[in-house]
Amino acid sequence: MGTIRLSDTDKELTVGKIVAVGANYMAHITEMGHEMPEAPMIFLKPATSIIHEGESIIFPTTGELMHHEVELGLVIGETCKGVPVGEAAGMIQAYCLALDMTLRDVQLAAMKTGWPWDTAKGFDGACPLSDALPVTDIAALSSLELGLEVNGELRQKSNTSDLLWGPVQLVSMLSEHFTLERGDIILTGTPSGVGPVERGDEIRAWLGDELQVRFRVA
Ligand code: MG
Repeated sequence: MGTIRLSDTDKELTVGKIVAVGANYMAHITEMGHEMPEAPMIFLKPATSIIHEGESIIFPTTGELMHHEVELGLVIGETCKGVPVGEAAGMIQAYCLALDMTLRDVQLAAMKTGWPWDTAKGFDGACPLSDALPVTDIAALSSLELGLEVNGELRQKSNTSDLLWGPVQLVSMLSEHFTLERGDIILTGTPSGVGPVERGDEIRAWLGDELQVRFRVA
């Protein structure tokens, strides 16, 4: 069962689902060869894809090309549906650093056929998470530097100020589609610089001044 630990209370929340968006940083949209979308693309990752520091990202047997995507994660604090933008900040209890690990070969094959890409982003270990920090100032979520390096080599570096759709817009938009429950996590999309990892690689990622994670690919 997927969980996330709230660092202020040392309590764990059960994660029911992970709602993720793609195409939310212009530089990443460009590197993937896509046009500016009218709305972010939405997909789900199962809670069984969550792992925590101390666990390794096990390279799946179901793909050959695994990419890293560093993202700001939002932890929902109360069950909500159809939340107006003006009330969405109150639903975000905490934030975390998330990696949206992606089997890019499986995803690109799915895009070609037009089939869903769940297996590209939903495998066990596809969602490494940090602990979550409480949100005390919602505006601060929109000016967090985030980055990722592999074996000490910088791959991704951006700022959540570059998000096309910010945290409150996303919560409002996503809650039109799904009831969001306490413990659900929203992944807000990745900036540019996505790239491959291999078995044996060490990933270090950071978000703001306070969150940092290390994961090994095994
Ligand atoms: Mg992503």
